[in-house]
Amino acid sequence: MYDFESFQSCDTDDQKLENESVNQAIVENPVTFHCGRCNTVWADCRGICGEATSVNSLICLEVTQDVTINSEREWSLDGLFSACVYNTLQCAGCLCLMGVILYSTPQHLSALRNLFLLKKDEMYCYIFSTGQMVKASTLNFSVAPLGERVSEGWGQFELKTVNSGNKLKIQITG
Ligand SMILES: [Zn+2]
Repeated sequence: MYDFESFQSCDTDDQKLENESVNQAIVENPVTFHCGRCNTVWADCRGICGEATSVNSLICLEVTQDVTINSEREWSLDGLFSACVYNTLQCAGCLCLMGVILYSTPQHLSALRNLFLLKKDEMYCYIFSTGQMVKASTLNFSVAPLGERVSEGWGQFELKTVNSGNKLKIQITG
């Protein structure tokens, strides 16, 4: 069963970054995400699409080849992923379980299906601009909810709904 074990300590600058603009400057610039135990690179900032605070995980579209997807599908009765079906992710360097891909979930986790969820407590980040290694848990990777970003993107278009028969069509005019 997937378990959120406690973070094994590593030498990092884990001072909490209280200043939001400092946080923003860091997370919007090149960062790589490393295993907190063996330093293997799990992902970089191009693959990250946000943070799921409810399950204490970073959400990734892409991970490195050093993240192994275990082939056995598992399910959980309790914990953060209660009532979920998932495959666990394993660090190729030290074989620790470091995340999951959810397949079947209760409604409140449905937005996280089929994405890589990497345990935030298990990783640290290398920040290129400052040459610092910090625990990922000291940074905030939350982004605007997808709905807001989509509507910003749509701002330049005019959306029209056209009722044709019993089907609703949406026309986009640029
Ligand atoms: Zn590792």
